[in-house]
Amino acid sequence: MAAIGAEEEALVLDVLRRKEPFRYYGFDPARPPPMAAQLEKEFREYIGVDFALAVSSGTAALEVAMAAAGIGPGDEVIITAWSWVSCFTSVVRVGARPVLAEIDDSMNIDPAEIGRKATPRTRAVMVVHYQGAAADMQKIRHEAHSRGIFVIEDCAQSMGTRYRGRQIGSWGDIATFSFQANKVATAGEGGVVVTRDPRLYERAVRFHDLGNYRPYHAAIVPSAEPAFSGGQYRMSELTAAVALAQLRKVDMIRAHCRRLQARIEPRLAGLKGLSLRTIHDSDGQFGFEVYFFLHDAALVGAFRSKLDALNVNCVQRTGTYPQYNRDYVKTGRAHTPSASPFRDFKEWPAPGYRAEDFPRTEDLTHRFVAIPIGWLYTEADADYIAESILAVHRECLGG
Ligand SMILES: *Cc1c(COP(=O)(O)O)cnc(C)c1O
Repeated sequence: MAAIGAEEEALVLDVLRRKEPFRYYGFDPARPPPMAAQLEKEFREYIGVDFALAVSSGTAALEVAMAAAGIGPGDEVIITAWSWVSCFTSVVRVGARPVLAEIDDSMNIDPAEIGRKATPRTRAVMVVHYQGAAADMQKIRHEAHSRGIFVIEDCAQSMGTRYRGRQIGSWGDIATFSFQANKVATAGEGGVVVTRDPRLYERAVRFHDLGNYRPYHAAIVPSAEPAFSGGQYRMSELTAAVALAQLRKVDMIRAHCRRLQARIEPRLAGLKGLSLRTIHDSDGQFGFEVYFFLHDAALVGAFRSKLDALNVNCVQRTGTYPQYNRDYVKTGRAHTPSASPFRDFKEWPAPGYRAEDFPRTEDLTHRFVAIPIGWLYTEADADYIAESILAVHRECLGG
């Protein structure tokens, strides 16, 4: 799990000893508390963008990003059929309609899907950088921007991943990150929104803080937007303290995971009946997972349980499964009928929201095996994982 230690303790203690847990003011009006402000400063420098806003979760970050872009009822947002719960639900929560697209064998959106799924109502594509490997941002940006479609990067799973030499989160119009417990760096909960656009920044700030635009933010960008009602998605100083200490460790964690991944994957290349996940930029990936496909879906169950019997963890940890199989898609409901973006469909699930509409996603997601690599894994663990995969491959596929 997470590399939590003395650095996190020291920053949390600092918040507690100053007795200033709220980010916007403490005892001295001339000296606001430092943690969330410092997290935002180091985050925008790390990603290479102009603005970063700390928020309460990665899901909140997605809602804030869409609200900043003015996305709401009547709008459509393209997401992949294979992605985390929040990608779908956050679109519904702002009142827009999620439109599902196929993944390709990178497990990220196939850029050609943007053209195939776009309608006059399409406002944005939400691009997930799935499990430590960047989506093909150059193609995606071209497909989207040439149609006037806004690009939201959901970097929740892949903080610190690069694409063509630049951090993910610096390629789209706005991007979101998560510090939830299962992510690369964690504060238990937490999120960040980043952008280069001062107008999106002001709107994100307002939406995350009850419509407010406080002096702290006005000193970064003077206000140019009228006030509007917002929600409350602020980050506390305590969360920011842990997130800041964790952010400073991301590259160290990444180097560790990559070193271990590099001991395993070359040994799998060229094995009969097995292909590694396509990685659009292998130098840029995070490396916290060895991810491959068996060509024969019928062998996957046995392959996984044999690995499991050797104590190699390959159960699906992330809880990701296709959106069209999830309960909230099957019902098509929001918290009240009139808030559902699917309320006008005569039949539900309508085409575009059923497994049979996604043959590629169905095929790929029935054939993968994913093995996590973590901060606590050693080189010996990596070698054992490689030996075990080779042994199970010999058993299942005859070597
Ligand atoms: C985890 C995750 C989120 C949501 O982050 P939370 O901090 O858990 O709200 C959003 N998108 C993806 C792809 C995720 O993996």
